[in-house]
Amino acid sequence: MAKRKQIIVGSGTAALNSLRQIRKAGCDDEVKLFTMEEHDPYSPMSLPYVLLGKLTAGQIRMVPDGFFDEMDATLIKGR
Ligand SMILES: Cc1cc2nc3c(=O)[nH]c(=O)nc-3n(C[C@H](O)[C@H](O)[C@H](O)COP(=O)(O)OP(=O)(O)OC[C@H]3O[C@@H](n4cnc5c(N)ncnc54)[C@H](O)[C@@H]3O)c2cc1C
Repeated sequence: MAKRKQIIVGSGTAALNSLRQIRKAGCDDEVKLFTMEEHDPYSPMSLPYVLLGKLTAGQIRMVPDGFFDEMDATLIKGR
């Protein structure tokens, strides 16, 4: 039987935690996240520190490399 499909809109805290909970519940549906952002998920609340030059963009990323592969999910940016 074909896998069910789930779409999550966004790549912020709510979206990422939704994905984590889907997998934690043992659900193996195909999951795609669509975000209008052009960037990997980052912490909005840390943005001022990037603007002040105290942190780099890489330091406010919310997930490590390989996160979406590990979660068997696809992040589609800029949509
Ligand atoms: C400067 C700053 C400081 C903050 N400080 C704090 C703090 O101290 N404590 C605290 O609790 N909170 C703080 N916040 C708020 C906190 O960042 C938000 O509450 C939190 O990010 C909300 O997470 P979210 O996933 O619900 O939404 P967001 O992080 O806003 O994520 C929404 C996602 O949806 C995407 N999206 C939205 N509309 C569309 C669309 N139509 N199509 C495709 N994608 C879409 C966005 O691109 C984004 O990826 C701060 C925010 C800022 C900006």
